[in-house]
Amino acid sequence: MDKKRDYYEVLGVSKNATADEIKKAYRKLAIKYHPDKNPDDKAAEEKFKEAAEAYEVLSNDEKRQKYDQFGHSMGSQGFGGFGNGGFSGGMSMEDIFAQFGDIFGGHFSGGFGGFGGATGSRSSRRRQKPQRRGSDLRITVKLTLKEIMTGVDKTLKIPTWVKCDHCNGTGAKDGTAFVTCPTCHGSGTVSQVVQGIFGPQEAVGVCPQCEGDGKVISEPCSYCNGEGIQKKDELVSFHIPAGVTDGMTLTIRGKGNAPRRGGVNGDLLVVIQEIKDAELIRDGNDVIYNLMLDVPTAALGGSVEVPTITGRARLNIPAGTQPGKVLRLRGKGLPEYNRSTVGDELINVMVYIPESLTDKEKEAFENMRENPNMKPSESTKQRLFSKLKHIFE
Ligand SMILES: [Zn+2]
Ligand SMILES: [Zn+2]
Repeated sequence: MDKKRDYYEVLGVSKNATADEIKKAYRKLAIKYHPDKNPDDKAAEEKFKEAAEAYEVLSNDEKRQKYDQFGHSMGSQGFGGFGNGGFSGGMSMEDIFAQFGDIFGGHFSGGFGGFGGATGSRSSRRRQKPQRRGSDLRITVKLTLKEIMTGVDKTLKIPTWVKCDHCNGTGAKDGTAFVTCPTCHGSGTVSQVVQGIFGPQEAVGVCPQCEGDGKVISEPCSYCNGEGIQKKDELVSFHIPAGVTDGMTLTIRGKGNAPRRGGVNGDLLVVIQEIKDAELIRDGNDVIYNLMLDVPTAALGGSVEVPTITGRARLNIPAGTQPGKVLRLRGKGLPEYNRSTVGDELINVMVYIPESLTDKEKEAFENMRENPNMKPSESTKQRLFSKLKHIFE
């Protein structure tokens, strides 16, 4: 593949395809080009890998958003682990089955990710041991409204189980102290006779002693006690896209714990926690600010300053502004996650009536009390109530 095809084109879906459509499209291609159906067909294998790569990116909200924004150029940055070893390098067949094996459902019978089934003559050659997978790590990241508005890059030190340096994750001294497994004599499999529907049958399973490795440690690595892993503070960088919501979980593939004695890493799960703003209340993609106007400004009009997500804004108050009125700052809300729409800031107007008055102020209000203009007429009442109707519905 010299020139990379567009991932949407690869899967034959539109740019705004749903997650389900993407999954279905990939499943169709993966079955069509599955190596069990296309033995020794290089072109089919390439198609199979190409589809897996496209699916890996488009099935992950975060990666899909990055891809929509930057296209294939994101690959070189290796952000968040586009596949193992990046976007451009492509994935190995093992990676594909390890990650997406479950997509085949019952199509390719036999255990692990479509490998090693009893489907055909080639299956014995391709029998593979199940790949061990490390556990997922879960962290919580607290974000301000401003960070949620713009999206943010985070670099965090996360205590992670990683491959032991001394034994290269094998658990064996210097990574070499192995002997052939005495139980399976190196094959990694054991066969046993089990009672089947049609009488005794021979079943082949993974060797319990070596877990399919075919070899066992003769002398354990003394640094990790043969576990093959060590705890380390890993510096992990990742991007949190704009518009995330409280409780949302982003998956950074392959940045979780390494498994004992080799295999693929688990994922890093980033749970979003929104820091409550002191003045603004989030309502979906809108933010609400409760503004308390003084009586003279509500009556005479004027201009007030209100907080926004990014700072402050001046707002014109028309003369005769009623309590309950909602003013709107368009586009001053939050972007919707994975979309181009942006919310507004809604300013909910209240009017502050002084709770105590000086004698002079009392006199001023007493004078106004007598003024008929201070009292709404029936028609005015109706007009104003009809404007506020939405609040009571
Ligand atoms: Zn070690
Ligand atoms: Zn064995």
